[in-house]
Amino acid sequence: MNYLLAITLFMGLAQSCRSQNNHDKSNKMDSANQKNHPVYSRTDSSKVVLKEDEWKKMLAPELYYIARQKGTERPYTSPFEQSKEVGTYYCAVCGNALFKSDTKFESGCGWPSFYEPVSKASIIYLPDNSLGMVRTEVECGRCKSHLGHVFEDGPPPTGLRYCINGVVLDFEKAKEAEKKYDDRQKKKG
Ligand SMILES: [Zn+2]
Repeated sequence: MNYLLAITLFMGLAQSCRSQNNHDKSNKMDSANQKNHPVYSRTDSSKVVLKEDEWKKMLAPELYYIARQKGTERPYTSPFEQSKEVGTYYCAVCGNALFKSDTKFESGCGWPSFYEPVSKASIIYLPDNSLGMVRTEVECGRCKSHLGHVFEDGPPPTGLRYCINGVVLDFEKAKEAEKKYDDRQKKKG
């Protein structure tokens, strides 16, 4: 790091300008990530169908690799894997509601795990016989992005384990206002 810093300083003004430009570019790429692309909506349930090159242009490289090329993130890398926050997990590509935090459990497999999706429309199931294994792939019900796999070794009541790449999840905490409203309703009843 010190070595790089020394080089940058030594190279003088021209080099500084160039690295400044690179910095600006990477900031723009970050802000274009996930939610800020045009197909993302939490209210529009119409199917999203795009060509492969359109996905590639729109999505951040890591999201494109997992969602559209059926990649797998390294285990234990997602901040969602350990998270116990209360809220809803959406598809990071299109905003479709996928899982509620109360169906999340610690599977120890290294990826965020759930036992039940929000609704039938949340998920599409496909046979996956790749890598010499018989598995069931799960895709987003709205945009058909690859999410992960479902296995039959989960907890009750479903006995299912949806093993999901954290990169394709977008989390929103349950709103404080909603909680207060629910508490009031409970007191009334
Ligand atoms: Zn989606």
